[in-house]
Amino acid sequence: MTENRIFNFNAGPSALPLPVLKEIQESFLNYKNSGMSLIEMSHRSAQFDEVVNDTVARTRRLLNIDEKYHVLFIQGGASLQFAMIPMNLLGVGSSADYVNTGTWSTKAIKEAKLLEKKINVVASSEDKNFSYIPQNIKFNKDAKYVHITSNNTIKGTQWHSFPDTNGVPIISDMSSDIFSRPLEMEKFGMIYAGAQKNIGPAGVCLVIMRDDMLKLSEDLLQSETKTLPNMLRYNTYSSQNSMYNTPNCFGIYATQLVLKWLEEEVGGLAKMEARNQEKGQMLYDFIDGSNFYRATAEKESRSLMNVTFRLPSEELEKEFIGQATKNGMGGLKGHRSVGGCRASIYNATTMEAVEALIKFMKSFATGK
Ligand SMILES: *Cc1c(COP(=O)(O)O)cnc(C)c1O
Repeated sequence: MTENRIFNFNAGPSALPLPVLKEIQESFLNYKNSGMSLIEMSHRSAQFDEVVNDTVARTRRLLNIDEKYHVLFIQGGASLQFAMIPMNLLGVGSSADYVNTGTWSTKAIKEAKLLEKKINVVASSEDKNFSYIPQNIKFNKDAKYVHITSNNTIKGTQWHSFPDTNGVPIISDMSSDIFSRPLEMEKFGMIYAGAQKNIGPAGVCLVIMRDDMLKLSEDLLQSETKTLPNMLRYNTYSSQNSMYNTPNCFGIYATQLVLKWLEEEVGGLAKMEARNQEKGQMLYDFIDGSNFYRATAEKESRSLMNVTFRLPSEELEKEFIGQATKNGMGGLKGHRSVGGCRASIYNATTMEAVEALIKFMKSFATGK
């Protein structure tokens, strides 16, 4: 622990890298000799322009993508994307495939249906309480996109490889695992992520959209989606560098610093993935070797970001969470919809934190 900070296993908003928080603190009152805080500055200023452009450039470098991909910052969280995607990309007569792997996928599906769009739920793991990622899915060749949730924050599962969709672009909600590993971006027409898990503070959603998807939405604007409000159109953001209106300036700035940390201190996404694998492996190995704790997700589908587990009884789980708090460990309660325990170990969670957690888990189990 540093400076009275706890080991933070929150699911979101969640832990950010300490060097990033310190840099924010140091520059907070006087940002780069401007004589003011970044949050007091015009979003039309050269200094803020530089923040946005650098964040976009870092995103492209980290994911190894070029200008063919538009990097956008949109407010409304990942939840607004559940609506914007079908609104912008599905016209009359066209359809999309959705895979249902948990709470967030279910919400994305619900939103598309609310808009009366034609979607097919081509696979679901609901039969086993979303404890696995479906395999051998048959996708529709004429779908405009395939929507998946790469990491299921609440259920603790993750896609470890992405499906072959017969060339149909994948759109993935990557809110809880973006930048945790390198990606084969050719497979994706679009990825998006609410920032508050792995990127920065809440209030900004990072949307990365390929040219052909943007074009599809622009073509529809000419014919079928003419009345779509400007704030709900992707090209409003892409044509104005995400600054049609005032963006979440602070959120974008914090994101810039997290990406800088990823590039300059971690050394890129392959190194980040190695760290994440090491942390996850250590925790799952411990849980598997214990006869007290039980992991809830099926082995091949386990998330390296959100480790969900149970204790022998709900009373013990309650006591575990209480004692963890007293021992300087927070955020271990499972999502209210599933109960149990969950340790979120995102990019910013250190090995030291995972080691401390295991040590505590050991002693708790021994004392019972
Ligand atoms: C947290 C989360 C969301 C919701 O994000 P908001 O930014 O609160 O709308 C959506 N999808 C996934 C996978 C999440 O983890």
